[in-house]
Amino acid sequence: MLSFNVATLLRSAPGTERRYPVEAFEMEIADDLRLAQPIEGEVRLSRAARTIVARAHLTTAIDGYCSRCLTAVVAPIDVEIEEVAIPSIDIDTGLPVSEADEPEALRLDDHHELDLGEPVREAISLAEPISLLCRPDCRGLCLVCGVDLNSATDHAHSEKTIDPRLAALAEWRDRSDSN
Ligand SMILES: [Zn+2]
Ligand SMILES: [Zn+2]
Repeated sequence: MLSFNVATLLRSAPGTERRYPVEAFEMEIADDLRLAQPIEGEVRLSRAARTIVARAHLTTAIDGYCSRCLTAVVAPIDVEIEEVAIPSIDIDTGLPVSEADEPEALRLDDHHELDLGEPVREAISLAEPISLLCRPDCRGLCLVCGVDLNSATDHAHSEKTIDPRLAALAEWRDRSDSN
């Protein structure tokens, strides 16, 4: 679960911290983004003066594609989350807490339940890896004919058939790869 009841924590001394393991947690991310592995990690909740600070380190994986040859690959995802949550109801007085001070903060519900589902979903969808490879030395697709160079041995075209613009692109790609 990514939902935590913090009523006890709200009554503890400021600075008190609770740790919760996250194990084999499955969740829907988006229609076009599915988890390839369940979420694992740890959530740490600590009591601040009037708020709960939630930090989480979570790992999972999503389905992606090699950026060179377009083979399907599983992409590891590692996210750090830090959120401040304010009560909706004051734990001591039972009175509603004004939202005006911290409009950006998460809100606990009326039962002091903290739900990290939405921040976690958002962090995972923003953590999509920029450049994925099926293996570090993936040879990619032939720039001339599009054949997968990993499976085509000794693939070559005669010099004449190579468009100079594509040759320049290949050179540029080789340089950017070696960075
Ligand atoms: Zn590849
Ligand atoms: Zn080719």
